[in-house]
Amino acid sequence: MDLSHLKVGVNVDIQRTDGRIHSAVISGVNNDAKSVTVEWFERGETKGKEIEADAIFSLNPHLMQENQKPGARDTHSSQSQNDNDDDDDYTYGSVSPVDQAPPAEGKGRGKKGGTVSIRGSNRVSAANAQETPRLSNRVSSSSSKVGSARSRQSYATRPPATQQNQQNGQNGQNGQAEPAESKKPGIPVADRRKSNCVKEVERIEQRRKERREKQVAIKEQMDGDYDTSDPNWQFAAMIKEFRAHLDYRPLTSSDPIVNHQICVCVRIRPLNKKEQGKKEVSVITVPNKETVIVHEPKTKVDLTKYLENQNFRFDYAFDENSSNEMVYRYTAKPLVDCIFENGMATCFAYGQTGSGKTHTMGGDFTGGKGQQETAKGIYCLAARDVFKLIHTKYKKSELTVGSSFFEIYSGKVFDLLNKKQKLRVLEDHKGQVQVVGLKEEVINSADDVLRLVAHGTNVRTSGVTSANQHSSRSHAVFQIILRKKSTGKLHGKFSLIDLAGNERGQDTKSSDRQTRMEGAEINKSLLALKECIRALGRKAGAYLPFRASKLTQVLRDSFIGDNSRTCMISMISPGMGCCEHSLNTLRYADRVKELGPGGPVEGKPAEIDLSGHYNNLGAMSPQNSALALLRTTNQDEVSDEMMTFHEKVNHMQELEEEIIDDQKSLIDNTQKWLTEQKKLLKQSDEVDYDVEAYAKQLDALLGSKIEELVKLKEKVANFRADIQEEETLSKNMKANKKK
Ligand code: ADP
Ligand code: MG
Repeated sequence: MDLSHLKVGVNVDIQRTDGRIHSAVISGVNNDAKSVTVEWFERGETKGKEIEADAIFSLNPHLMQENQKPGARDTHSSQSQNDNDDDDDYTYGSVSPVDQAPPAEGKGRGKKGGTVSIRGSNRVSAANAQETPRLSNRVSSSSSKVGSARSRQSYATRPPATQQNQQNGQNGQNGQAEPAESKKPGIPVADRRKSNCVKEVERIEQRRKERREKQVAIKEQMDGDYDTSDPNWQFAAMIKEFRAHLDYRPLTSSDPIVNHQICVCVRIRPLNKKEQGKKEVSVITVPNKETVIVHEPKTKVDLTKYLENQNFRFDYAFDENSSNEMVYRYTAKPLVDCIFENGMATCFAYGQTGSGKTHTMGGDFTGGKGQQETAKGIYCLAARDVFKLIHTKYKKSELTVGSSFFEIYSGKVFDLLNKKQKLRVLEDHKGQVQVVGLKEEVINSADDVLRLVAHGTNVRTSGVTSANQHSSRSHAVFQIILRKKSTGKLHGKFSLIDLAGNERGQDTKSSDRQTRMEGAEINKSLLALKECIRALGRKAGAYLPFRASKLTQVLRDSFIGDNSRTCMISMISPGMGCCEHSLNTLRYADRVKELGPGGPVEGKPAEIDLSGHYNNLGAMSPQNSALALLRTTNQDEVSDEMMTFHEKVNHMQELEEEIIDDQKSLIDNTQKWLTEQKKLLKQSDEVDYDVEAYAKQLDALLGSKIEELVKLKEKVANFRADIQEEETLSKNMKANKKK
C-alpha cells in the first residue's frame, strides 16, 4: 500500500479509543510503517496520535486511491501489526524513530532518547509476559547498551515508572485504556492501533514535557546568569549582549613596553567573592590593551533601561585577569633604570577604597591567614629589579640602596620605620623640602625590602580595627633611595605611593571635623598631584602648586627634576555599585594625561600660563597661593565655596602647627623659668640680699612669662575662632548643596 498521496495538513476523521469520532489534521505520513500521525486540539492542548492507514481509510474512504479500494487490501497487515508491536518495544529501546531523527534536532533528541530508554524498559516488563524470548533479549540488551548513559538524564527529568503510568492515566483516557485493551486477546488490530495511539500521545506528551523542561532550563540558565528578581538584571543582559559583539585583544606580555615620561594606565580588579555572592554586575569592559569601556546604567523617564557606554583611552588597560607582575612590567619596571641615571621616579596607585591599590603596590592577600604576599607587590618587584641592576648593568656606579616608608595622614607625616613617629616637613630658603628625621634604612637585598615592607605595613595598620578604614584616609609612601657610596649624596629616588581612597576627597561634607579635615587634605592633595604630574617636563617648577598639600610638597623634588618620570595606575572596582566612583577615577586619570582618540594631545596642559597668577599671589601664604593656582586650573572642580573652605582649613593647619611649636617652647621655657625662680628665691633667704635687684629680676621674669603666655593665648583664641568658622563654612556648604 502506498501512502505517498496522503498530504500533511489534510483533514481526516479519526476514531478515538473510547469510540468517539472527530476530525483531525494529518501531521505526518509514515509510508514504511503504513501509518499516519494526526493532531487535533482538545481542552486547550494540541494532542496527537499515530493511526494505521487502514483505520484512516476505513473512516475516510475518499482518501483511498483506486487500487487500494476494498478488495485490493494488503493481506499481511495483521502479521505486520504484531511485528510492529514487537518492533515498537524494540525501537523505543534502541533505534527508535527518535534516534533516526535529522541531526539538526540531535541535542534535544538525545535527551529524548534517554527518557525513551526508561520507558522502553518499563514496557519490557509488561511485554515480557506475552512476548517471545527473542524480543525480550533484544530489548534488555539494547536497554543496557544505551540505558546507562541516558538514564541518568531521565531520572533527573522524569518521574519514576509507576508515577509515570499514573500520570499518563490522569492525562486522558488513552493512557488508561492501553493496559486494559491490550490484554484483550483476539483483537490485534484494535490492540495495535490503540498501542500506537497511546504511544503517539505519549510521544506528544513527551515532546511537550521536553519543551517545558527546555524552557525551565533556559530560565534556570537565565536565573544563573541573571537574577531576574534583581532590578538590574536587564542591565546585566545588555552588557552581556554588548560584550558578545566585541573583538577582544587584551594586553599580552609580548606587547611592546613603551617608555613614557608620564604613563597613565588603568587596572580593573575582578569582582570579589562577596560581590559575586550578591550577584553584582560588572560594568567595566577592557576590549583591548588601551581601552576601558564603562557601561553606565541609565533609566529614562518612561522607566526604559539603557546603557550609556563611555570609552576611555590610556597608555595601558589591564583587565581583571592581569597579574601584579604583568601590571608591574608595563608601569613601574620601565622606571627603574631612570633612578640609576640621576633621575626621580614616582609610581602612584590611585582609586577608590577597595579597588586594589594596596593589592597592587603592597602585594596580594593570597598567602592565607590574611597575610600579604609582599613579594608580589610593586614595592618589592621594583626593589628586586634595583638589586638586579646594581649587580649587573650599574655595577660600576658605586651606589648604596636605602629605603624609607612613611604615611601622610591628614597633612601630617608619620614614619612607618620608626614607630610611627610624627615628623615635620621643612622647606629651606632654596625651596628644598625635608622630612626632618625620616629614617632611611640601608638595604642590601630584595629580602631586606620584603622585611621592611611587611614591618611598615604592620605599623601602618596596627591598632586599627579595619586596615582599609585607616588606609583609605592616608597616603603611604615607600621610597627606594640610591646614594653615592663615597659621599652619601642623593643619586636617584623611586617613590611608590599607595594613595588614599579618592572617594575620601568628598568627606569635606562630613559632620565630623576630623573626617572633614582628612577629606580636605585628600581633596587638595589629589588635585595638586594631578597638576604636578601634568606639569612634569614643562619646567614650570616654581609655579607648581606642590605646596597645596603635604603629599605634593614632600614629593616636590620628584616633579621638578630634569629626569623625572612618573606612572599612575588607576584602580577600578568593576561592580555596578561603584560605577559613579569608577567614572570619577577614569575622568581624573584622563585629565592627568589627555590621550585623545588619536594619540596624546601634545602641549595641551602646558597652555595654561601660571606665571602671572603666581606673581599676583605674593601676599598670600605659600599654601594658599598654591591653592589659588589649583583653582585656576580646576575651575570646574573647585567651587569658590570650596576654595574658601580650603583656605580656612589651611589657615587652621598653619596655626595648629605654630601653636604646637609654641607650646613646645613654652614647656622648655617653663623649665628655665622655674630654675630662675628657685635661684631668685634662694637669694631672698640670704641676710644681705639686694631687694631692688630681686624685685627687678622677678619683674622681668614674670614679664617674659606673661608676654609668652598672652601671645600663645591670642593664637589659641584665633585658632578656636578658625575652628568655629570652619564648622560654619562646612555647614553652609552642605546646606547649599541640598538646595
Ligand atoms: P585598596 O587598597 O584600593 O583599598 P585593596 O588592595 O585592599 O584595595 O583591595 C580590596 C580587596 O580586593 C582585597 O581583598 C584584595 O585582595 C582584592 N583585590 C584587589 N585587587 C585584586 C586583584 N587584581 N585580584 C584579586 N583580588 C584583588
Ligand atoms: Mg589600601
